Amino acid sequence: MSKIVVIGGGLAGLSAAVYLSAEHQVLLLESSPKLGGRTYSFVENKTGSTIDNGQHLMMGCYKYTLDFLKQIESEKNIEVFENLDINFVKNDSTQYKLSSGNYFYPLNLLSSILNYSAVNLYDRISLIKFILKIKFTKNSYLKNKTVKEWLLDKKQSNQSIISLWEILVIATMNTTLEKASALLFKIVLKEIFLGGKKSSNIILPRTGLSELFCEPAKIFIEKNNCRILTSERVRRIEFDGDNAIKIIANKNCYDDFDYVISAVPFHALNNIQMNTSETNNYPRLEHSPILNIFIWLDNNPFKERIYGLIDSPIHWIFNHGEYLSITISAANEYMAMKEDEILDFTYSQIEKYFPIFNRKFARYCKIIKEKRATFTPSILSIDERQFFNSGFKNVVFAGDWTNTGLPSTIEGAVKSGFFAAKKIT
Ligand SMILES: Cc1cc2nc3c(=O)[nH]c(=O)nc-3n(C[C@H](O)[C@H](O)[C@H](O)COP(=O)(O)OP(=O)(O)OC[C@H]3O[C@@H](n4cnc5c(N)ncnc54)[C@H](O)[C@@H]3O)c2cc1C
Repeated sequence: MSKIVVIGGGLAGLSAAVYLSAEHQVLLLESSPKLGGRTYSFVENKTGSTIDNGQHLMMGCYKYTLDFLKQIESEKNIEVFENLDINFVKNDSTQYKLSSGNYFYPLNLLSSILNYSAVNLYDRISLIKFILKIKFTKNSYLKNKTVKEWLLDKKQSNQSIISLWEILVIATMNTTLEKASALLFKIVLKEIFLGGKKSSNIILPRTGLSELFCEPAKIFIEKNNCRILTSERVRRIEFDGDNAIKIIANKNCYDDFDYVISAVPFHALNNIQMNTSETNNYPRLEHSPILNIFIWLDNNPFKERIYGLIDSPIHWIFNHGEYLSITISAANEYMAMKEDEILDFTYSQIEKYFPIFNRKFARYCKIIKEKRATFTPSILSIDERQFFNSGFKNVVFAGDWTNTGLPSTIEGAVKSGFFAAKKIT
């Protein structure tokens, strides 16, 4: 049995702690008073509704996340939508379904694209050809390309780009076609479209994110006689040669451990002092923000659960019945905007896409700006992540930004925690 300190109680840290706690003595240190990092929920004061810090969507290809949820007995808290089924809307309010039906894999996906009438038939066939060739597309060809360059190179039409690719890229990578790495997007597409029938299932939490991930993980870890300390910020790690020997946090010092898993975000590493020369070696990644607008309604005219908006600055509307959760990804330009300006422009967009909606239906609104929602999965990020190594004997790094081969996602975070735990065991 080893003694392990996990720094950071986001999904990466929780996943590492869960996997290790069955056989090892784990102490998890989290700087904030709550667990979950960028994935949490809370009770909104004015309405009493439990809302997330931003709508999170998972997919059937999130296999590490699904294993993690099984392990902490929280599978009951997710809703799996068998068969891809999303409503896309154009600004003339026409709706198009991307719906895979009940065919066998991979016919289900092919049929979903063949029936997606937001693009013309010729372009749909070209879309299918593109997807079928993904597996055979060489990484060396994609390595220095953006998604936009790849799509144009493969003669994807403007209509396909606007009506499908743009939405898919921004949803999975939280950045624009012009910035997103083609290589990383290939991995995403392979996972979603070529990973088997269940891979493209959409998964939504039935509960708040904290009830889905943090509370059951905490129960699991503590049941295994391991400890979690919140409001305990790590300030310094002391080394003897290549070995971490002491962790200094704001309340206590810890020196009785064999291994350390650092599961803090890349920007937070700079705030932890280390008496070693390795400190400036961290990956140079950029952040990509997400803006979430919550609107509580007296009168909800929406019938579907999820709407994707084509060619709109608003990307998704998630219908929670009592309220709408609206997502704007890659939201850099909105971070400095005032709340009433954001609201005004959000209402104008919804009214334009859905004439059934009127801003008078809104009872109350809340805006959450997550400035550091994800890292930007640009071409530069590929090498920055790949060549990053802790360089310390008993310190392993975890977090969505580490070299998981995935964009900045729940799946990336959980996978990184699992692999950090594996590395130790
Ligand atoms: C609004 C929003 C929407 C998103 N939507 C999706 C989605 O739909 N699907 C999806 O898959 N992903 C989505 N993501 C991304 C996903 O939430 C993240 O990739 C994931 O939560 C990252 O987890 P992590 O553990 O790597 O990092 P974090 O969650 O950032 O956890 C790191 C933890 O370390 C702690 N910490 C930092 N410094 C210290 C210190 N010195 N000492 C102790 N603790 C410290 C922090 O407080 C934090 O709790 C979204 C993110 C946001 C913000």
